This record gives sequence, C-alpha cells and structure tokens, in this order.
Amino acid sequence: MTWQTGLTTALDVAVVFYVFLRLLRLVRGTRTGAVLVGLLVIFAGWWASGELGLTAMRTLLDRVIESLVIIIVVVFQADIRRALARVGGSPRRWGRTYQTPQIIPEIVSAVARLADKRCGALIVIERGAELGHRIEGAAQLDATVSRGLLLSIFNPASPLHDGAVVIREGRVAAAGYFMPLSADTQLPDEFGTRHRAAIGLTEDVDAVVLVVSEERGEISLARDGKLQRGISTSDLSDQLYVLLGSEELGRWEQLRSWWAGGKVK
Ligand code: ATP
Ligand code: MG
Repeated sequence: MTWQTGLTTALDVAVVFYVFLRLLRLVRGTRTGAVLVGLLVIFAGWWASGELGLTAMRTLLDRVIESLVIIIVVVFQADIRRALARVGGSPRRWGRTYQTPQIIPEIVSAVARLADKRCGALIVIERGAELGHRIEGAAQLDATVSRGLLLSIFNPASPLHDGAVVIREGRVAAAGYFMPLSADTQLPDEFGTRHRAAIGLTEDVDAVVLVVSEERGEISLARDGKLQRGISTSDLSDQLYVLLGSEELGRWEQLRSWWAGGKVK
C-alpha cells in the first residue's frame, strides 16, 4: 500500500466518522460519548488490521461495520424515536399551546408557598399532546388549576402527594403520576428520584416540569432534559408565560403587578 492510498483511507475514515458524529449529535443522548469511543476503536482496528495484513481480523471487522447501521439503530432507538417525534411538528413551533395563561399565577403562587414550607412537589405542564395515555395509571382528575388545590395535593398528609400533578389543557388532569427516571449518570448527587423524574420525562416529552425540593426548598424547572435550579418565583413566572406561549400576556401581567404594587405604596 502506498502512502497516497494510506492517506486516502485515513481521509475516508475521517469523513465517515465526522458524518457519524453529526448524526449522533442530532439524536442527542447520554450514551453518545461511550458509543463514539466504541466506534473509534472499531474503525481503528479495521484500519490497523488492513495495514498489518491481518486478514481474518479484517474480514471480521468488515462484517461488524456492515451491520453497524443496524447496531446503531438498536442502541439509539429511544433517541431516534425522540428526534423523529420532535421533527414531526410539535405545537411549540408555532408558539401556541392550549394552556390558558390564567393558570400561571396560581401555579407560581402554589410553588412559592410549597418551597417556603419545604414541601416536595412535582408539576408537569403539557406543551403538546405527547403525554397522551401515559397518565392513565395515575389518579384521574379534572379540576380547575388553583393554588389551594395544588397545596392540598402536595400536603404530605394527602394520599396523592407522591408523584406528579399533570396539567393538561389548563386543567389539573391527574395526580400521583409516576414518570420515567433519567438514565443520565452525570447528574449531581443531590438529585434524587424527584429531580431525575423531571429530567427523565422532559428528555422524552415536550413538557415543562416544575420541581420543589423538599430537602432544599429550591425551585427548579425542567425542559428538554435539562434542569434549571434555584429559580426565583418572578423568573419562574416570566419563563412560564414564554414557554406556554403567552409572552405578550406575561409583559402585560408584569405591568399590571408593577402598577398594583405602585398603588399599594
Ligand atoms: P428532594 O430534594 O425533594 O428530596 P429528590 O430529588 O432528592 O427530591 P427524593 O428525595 O428521592 O428526590 O424524592 C422522593 C419523592 O419524589 C417521592 O416521594 C415521590 O413523591 C417523588 N418521586 C419519586 N420518583 C418519582 C417518579 N418516578 N415520578 C414522580 N414522582 C416521583
Ligand atoms: Mg431527596
């Protein structure tokens, strides 16, 4: 093998590798790093066995590389499903959801009180219809969203305080909903199951999840598999108006409360 062909092979492998990298980024997942190392080892082995004339090894790796597409599809099936679901038009693209803005002050006020009292809470606010039948196992409700109701549900003496409340179409649709935990191994140690559940659900579903930590009285907001910790109630309110598609109303609400505040003084 001449130097030129060696160089071409190296370039070839680099291009294939780059394309794989971009594809894997597209289907963002927690296992991506480990799988990339695996792929690198396979490609390096394949190239080295060609260079060293190890025919049996080379033939074996040829077969492995031929099946790589299937192996990747199997390993990443959950991530591919999620990526496709996201591409397939979710309501956020049009900035419209069917949550009503009136629920936001009720939720924010309940969350603030729960954080003060150090009552753990988990609230899922749907942004699309993607939770669908998943909540069938939870206690089914159909109630107006109010601060009082949320506080009663998350009262530790309440039979429904464990699990999450689900808000769908501006109503409390369910309580005691148990969600999938995130498999991410890099999360901070202080995140127990409640925080992992918030991250886990939003990795799969286009929803906003609010978490009140019982241990730290901290409010967090999870979205797209990421958790923002320790947010203030005013920031929470602003973000909810934006995330639930009522940005103009959010500004209006700010102006109204500033005006009301000014009047009280
Ligand atoms: P905290 O900071 O409030 O302690 P944490 O992240 O440390 O939260 P845990 O202490 O493990 O979490 O919280 C346990 C509570 O979280 C349970 O009592 C239950 O109400 C809720 N929870 C646990 N797992 C799930 C789940 N998969 N889905 C919904 N809620 C869950
Ligand atoms: Mg805990």
